[in-house]
Amino acid sequence: MHGLLNMASEFDLISRYFSPPAPNGFVGVGDDCAVLPLTPDKQWVTSTDLLIQDQHFAAGADPWKLGHKALAVNVSDLAAMGATPQACLLGLALPSIDEAWVQAFRDGFLHYAHTTGCALIGGDTTRSAAGIHISVTVLGLVNAGRALRRSAAQLSDDVWLTGQLGAAHLAWQLSTGRWAAHRASLSAHWADIQAALHTPLPPWQLAPALAQWAHAAIDISDGLAQDLGHILTNSACGASVYVDALPAHPALAGLPVEIKHEALLSGGEVYQLCFTAPPAHRARINALGEQYQTRITRVGEITAADGLRILDGSGQPVHVPRGGFDHFAEPQP
Ligand code: ADP
Ligand code: MG
Repeated sequence: MHGLLNMASEFDLISRYFSPPAPNGFVGVGDDCAVLPLTPDKQWVTSTDLLIQDQHFAAGADPWKLGHKALAVNVSDLAAMGATPQACLLGLALPSIDEAWVQAFRDGFLHYAHTTGCALIGGDTTRSAAGIHISVTVLGLVNAGRALRRSAAQLSDDVWLTGQLGAAHLAWQLSTGRWAAHRASLSAHWADIQAALHTPLPPWQLAPALAQWAHAAIDISDGLAQDLGHILTNSACGASVYVDALPAHPALAGLPVEIKHEALLSGGEVYQLCFTAPPAHRARINALGEQYQTRITRVGEITAADGLRILDGSGQPVHVPRGGFDHFAEPQP
């Protein structure tokens, strides 16, 4: 990496080298997924994600859960566009053939594929000299013109979140030994926070329904502050978010405020949605949350002033502890 790259981040790299204009009728680089024309009524939505051993998961990671997660992080990008999963392709590079590993990975992957209606229709398999590499490409469908874009937030929209924040970050940090002093007090939440990190459940059923009413959306893979920041940049607006309104995972209760704020604002691997919608649709959106049994929380609003302001209960700004995840800036969160 050093010597090859002299850039601030993966985002600079993508925008400098890999952002050609999209063909007419396509959505290209810059959103959670690309969008392609299909029929006058429907569009294809597609995205691809890489998972690399020692970067995204440890060598001894549970293969069933890894299979689940490899597909779930991609289904999360479809959800961020409001798309319904249709199919996927799986690229697998393995140092050797361990059939028990392959079978468990396959079972986890196909179980989630079956659950989400995302049929495995192809892929590629090869040997790797440098650990396990997993590449998943997903395809989904949206009603034409209804894909949720990062660039579509409008002034005075509400900012909403699905699910809860902070658990996956807590699990990751504890696995690295950080915050070890708090480990014992978290024992009651242990299984839950491990599940948040290793078997995320993006709201793929809710998302196509949300696409009827929401303006902009993104999935929270790199932390709320960074990912909402992408919506704000692409939509040329700002936002105020109220830290006390954020849907904190119960495991965060009782932890020091610095840990809480880091997990809530900068913690990645959430695979839930941050979306914006006009205040007139509040009742509809709350009703969708009940219909799909998904927690949906209103946490702030879109403003004209640039940038993201996180405010505490007395209206004072809250510092965002660390930037979100960037593959070229820091080790895995
Ligand atoms: P996400 O976190 O939603 O998966 P990323 O932050 O990885 O999105 O990518 C941001 C945007 O850049 C996406 O539109 C993605 O398709 C695009 N992108 C990332 N890497 C490349 C690449 N090497 N070539 C072209 N587009 C890329
Ligand atoms: Mg995404």
